[in-house]
Amino acid sequence: MKFLLKIFILLCFCNSSFSQMNCGFNYAIESLYESVPGAKTKYEELLKNQMNKTNVAISNSFTIPVVVHILHQGGSDNISDAQVNDAMAILCRDFRKKNADTINIVTQFQGIASDCSIQFSLATKDEYGNCTTGITRHYDSNTNWTINQYSYKYTWNPAQYLNIYVVASMPSGMAGYAYYPGSVSPLMDGIVILNSYFGSIGTASPFGSRALTHEVGHFLNLQHVWGSTNNPGVSCGDDAVGDTPITQGFTSCDLTNAINCTSGVTENVQNYMEYAFCSIMFTQGQKNRMHNCLNSTVANRDNLSSNANLIATGLINPLSNCAPKAEFVPNTFVTCVGNPISFTDYSYNGAVTNWTWTSPTAVNTSTLQNGSLTFSTAGLASVKLTVGNSFGTDTLTKQEVTVLAGANSGITNVVESFENITFPNALWIASTPQFGSPFLQNNATGATGSKSLWVNNYFDNPSEGVNAFSPAFNLQNTSSAFLNFTYAYAQKTSANNDQLTVEVSTDCGLTWTNIYSKIGAQLNTTGGFKTQAYLNPLNSHWKIENLNLQNFSGNSKVYFKFTFMSDVSGAGNNIFIDDINVSSITGKKTENLSLQHISIFPNPFNEMLTLKLSVNSNFSSLKLFDVLSREIKIEVTQLEPDKFSIRPYENLKAGIYFLQISTPEGMRTLKLIKN
Ligand SMILES: [Zn+2]
Repeated sequence: MKFLLKIFILLCFCNSSFSQMNCGFNYAIESLYESVPGAKTKYEELLKNQMNKTNVAISNSFTIPVVVHILHQGGSDNISDAQVNDAMAILCRDFRKKNADTINIVTQFQGIASDCSIQFSLATKDEYGNCTTGITRHYDSNTNWTINQYSYKYTWNPAQYLNIYVVASMPSGMAGYAYYPGSVSPLMDGIVILNSYFGSIGTASPFGSRALTHEVGHFLNLQHVWGSTNNPGVSCGDDAVGDTPITQGFTSCDLTNAINCTSGVTENVQNYMEYAFCSIMFTQGQKNRMHNCLNSTVANRDNLSSNANLIATGLINPLSNCAPKAEFVPNTFVTCVGNPISFTDYSYNGAVTNWTWTSPTAVNTSTLQNGSLTFSTAGLASVKLTVGNSFGTDTLTKQEVTVLAGANSGITNVVESFENITFPNALWIASTPQFGSPFLQNNATGATGSKSLWVNNYFDNPSEGVNAFSPAFNLQNTSSAFLNFTYAYAQKTSANNDQLTVEVSTDCGLTWTNIYSKIGAQLNTTGGFKTQAYLNPLNSHWKIENLNLQNFSGNSKVYFKFTFMSDVSGAGNNIFIDDINVSSITGKKTENLSLQHISIFPNPFNEMLTLKLSVNSNFSSLKLFDVLSREIKIEVTQLEPDKFSIRPYENLKAGIYFLQISTPEGMRTLKLIKN
């Protein structure tokens, strides 16, 4: 189990207006000189020590390069540079004991409240030596954060930078979390924090502004004052720091009754590593522990403040005047051939003076800030944005736009069993997930024949949905239409919530209407659980689904999107889909005969059906169709004035059929199932 440290509530109610200190921007070293008497001498000693590291000398002041990764979706979650600078200033203020509210520290702790001599500064060089503001911005739905290693895709080398991810939401009500040094893979060695708890302005407020101070404490190996749990108030515990009294921790700020564990010993309610609402101090012992961490090779923390690293990250001789970094999002992720799609520019890191949008499958290029492209080829489109200013250029290529095939008139009745086509192709299109398996053709098993579509979900873990898109079906002249498909799916365990949905679009993928959704046990067709990879569905596992497309009749381009969403836990299994079939009945008739006038039984039926019609006149026609709209001859016998028996002339296969009833009052098509 990973060691996860989290805070559920706020650390401090910061009601004083704090004094801004000159730190947290790009000139921390100079600031250090200004703000701490003798710092320059100390720093030069530090440089000497770092350059002669075999004579290990213990550093006693530190500057840590920081990179802030802002994940956003184009709203207020794309927080301002000013908010980032504010957060950095608060962090520096707290670690340098420049906070004005130190006057509120209770008597017992005034003598050990410590200036930790640790500074933080945004990097001005990235891992490759390029100019950076120390802030990266990514249009990423993972601003609604999930805790797994894939989420940490923007991490810069944690031996060089303190990585801070700023996100819009997190699971379990967390405001932020961090890991102890060396407890996780380097990729995850950073802090994740809500933008509402990052700084005191913009989307944040003074109330939550010390959450980052707390998390950086963990990053530098501090435990909660009651020990290494996330549960204060349970039992008296120690944090391996000598001058923080044994405590069970606090969730509120009662300074007058803070003696719970040791008779006569007041506990440090105001510590930054508490869960109380009045955190305003670190102790001398905590400072020493953090310094030991920063002098330790564990997780390369000792490299962060090394002279070489301060040069490499641009804290010494900082860069300015950066080239921009390209970032964008398509305004819609699905379009079709010939329909333009526009993009929103979210480039950052420097003012942009020119934009170029291109794609190998587009018929045009664009130089607008928010460009637009029209595609000539179906499939997953590759879109490239190049941005520049006088200091340089940057390009970003994304494959996020699915281009559906254009009009495919004529297709109204097909059974696509994937026996004679290759999937994906110019008509049937699969989305490519960032992680895990897309929809693929399976050449080993099928409901009919030996092929089908499948998602290899047992070994992979696409927590994002994966899609299979159909060609356009022409339902313009249909009076009724149905989508049938067969599928087989096994749950791994009862807790497994894989989901299949089917959606319909009549506007080239701009909007989608859900017509089918099944999840977990509902979706399971095996009647049990398969703890191994589900690879060979039995005949009895294939289940047919029949969906009414009545609402989409009259449209000439009807697309279907099958989406398989893997259980976020990754505990999923495989799904197979086959025999995707659109059946329709042509003729511009509306289904206007009230169902109240009709009863038909039994349904499902075996050989014969009975129809009862409570309308004034008899039917004028009665027709039976199979799913391919082939008419099947029937024998109709009038039993009573309003009651008829219906018997097909041929021996029907089990499956779905449609009975079309036409009367002077109107017509109606009913779905029948033959056992
Ligand atoms: Zn914590």
